[in-house]
Amino acid sequence: MDTQPTPDQPWDRTVLCTTCGVEHDPDALPGTCAICADDRQWVPADGQRWTTVGALRAGGARVQPAPLEPGLWALPVSGGAGIGQHAKLLTTPAGNLLVDVPAHIDRAAVEAVAGLGGLAGIIASHPHMYGVQSDWSEAFDGVPVYVSAPDAAWLARRPGNLALWSGTIEPLPGVTASQPGGHFPGSVVVHYTAEDGRGVLLAGDTVGVARDRAWTTFMRSFPNYLPLSGRVALRIADHLDRYDYDRLYDNFTGCITAEARAVVHRSAQRHADWAEGRCDHLT
Ligand SMILES: [Zn+2]
Ligand SMILES: [Zn+2]
Repeated sequence: MDTQPTPDQPWDRTVLCTTCGVEHDPDALPGTCAICADDRQWVPADGQRWTTVGALRAGGARVQPAPLEPGLWALPVSGGAGIGQHAKLLTTPAGNLLVDVPAHIDRAAVEAVAGLGGLAGIIASHPHMYGVQSDWSEAFDGVPVYVSAPDAAWLARRPGNLALWSGTIEPLPGVTASQPGGHFPGSVVVHYTAEDGRGVLLAGDTVGVARDRAWTTFMRSFPNYLPLSGRVALRIADHLDRYDYDRLYDNFTGCITAEARAVVHRSAQRHADWAEGRCDHLT
């Protein structure tokens, strides 16, 4: 069992912010993590804390791959840093894409991903989800790390194989990524057609699934309850119309299991109705 730090794992020395779980260059460590100081996140009441992958692993952190549906896995981390995101691993005949990145890496998880066919690329939906993307890339022969050019200033550590992009890309055949923006100016969604022939959208924090799973939301900050405007919510729904999608997975465990495009549209309209004051008579 992989229970003790061993010196042969280069990622052990990787420094990351304990709160957001994003990797940082140890030679350029700021006093406070810029991602957490931003109005979309928060700095703990007792101040900024940094940790390392090795320290987290010694403390019991684990990546725990779990199947979501055929061809799609979640990679949540237990006992580690970060905000509890569920990175996704999309497996395709042409190779696999890591969509959002765990805030941890360990040998068992690398072996599990290798057993599923390895990685052909890594793409985070937005800077909160960079995790330890440099290490995941290096663990798989330096596969490209696709980063939205509009958000590149948020990189606190530069991946060795950084691929900046804007607009739309196809990181794998049949897999499309585009940038509706919203939560961040370069926020990314990933679309593909699943084995059952239905379209699937991996939405990151661009579209959040509400607790009432008949609805979604559109937020600048989820922890700080800061909504996007009605106009931007409608813009996101319109952007996503380029895709045929039936299911939608958000950044955590939220999933719209059917007719997701219609759900997103009616949710954007509801969001706009409230944000623009057309429901003020109910308050
Ligand atoms: Zn942080
Ligand atoms: Zn976010």
